[in-house]
Amino acid sequence: MRNLPKQWKWLVVTLCVVVGLVASSAIAQISQNESKTPLQPAPDCQLTGALAKLCPPTDTPTPTPPIIIDDKSKFFNAIATKLNPLPTPKTYEYLILQEYGGIFATTNPQIQLPPKVAFDTAKETKAFQDTLKQVRVNAGLDCFLQAPAAASFNTILRTTPIPLKSGKGKSDCLRTFETTSRFWHRSSNQKILQKIRQGQLQPIMRKVAPPGSSQHLWGLAIDLGQLNPRQTQILNQNGWFQTVKGDQPHWTYLGMSMEELIQLGFKKQVIGRNTYWLTPLLTDK
Ligand SMILES: [Zn+2]
Repeated sequence: MRNLPKQWKWLVVTLCVVVGLVASSAIAQISQNESKTPLQPAPDCQLTGALAKLCPPTDTPTPTPPIIIDDKSKFFNAIATKLNPLPTPKTYEYLILQEYGGIFATTNPQIQLPPKVAFDTAKETKAFQDTLKQVRVNAGLDCFLQAPAAASFNTILRTTPIPLKSGKGKSDCLRTFETTSRFWHRSSNQKILQKIRQGQLQPIMRKVAPPGSSQHLWGLAIDLGQLNPRQTQILNQNGWFQTVKGDQPHWTYLGMSMEELIQLGFKKQVIGRNTYWLTPLLTDK
């Protein structure tokens, strides 16, 4: 430097100052960028146990477990607004609901349900039947059903012949209390009826209903002869199902589709060539 001309000395000093300023500016920019970069989780955050406690909380939501409703609850939800009070287990009313009560789960607003699972007297039964719009079915003699059930059955008959069991409407279709009582006493007795009234299931209940408890009193059941698979399918498609276990000729108008029955908790049971749609209250296999 001492031997350089004066102008060269100034040039060297100026260059040093410029290079210094540029370098310090670059360092400042790098440190600023680093401060904006978020902290990366430490590799230990991939671990579990004590080390994981040191990691920041994650945003992963806790999965909610699905709510599972069993068939009995589905069924009781469906009948809750139609029966008050609801029958309690080990009573006569619960037994009747279990064996014949599928109809109380119907969602079809046209169907008129009785206010209780079983009537006690002929007078009480007649009073309910007098509130029904009863329509003649175009089969057999004097066969009447509740209006929506009759309309459905007559629609089927337009394309598909379906035989009644006896051909006598007063037996196969809407019955009086006196008729159901006569049928009961022809097949059973007072002693068995007493056990049923104590809430004990008796095998005869699947052939004939105790007086006052038959779906035939409500105009929602019909007894049919031997059917082929096509006839059975058409009945199902029009809201008719076999709902009393083992009572093969007995068909109930539920006015719903098979899919709805499943959603309402009905149990499907195939016995021989028959498919029954039973309440989920049945406990026997
Ligand atoms: Zn029947």
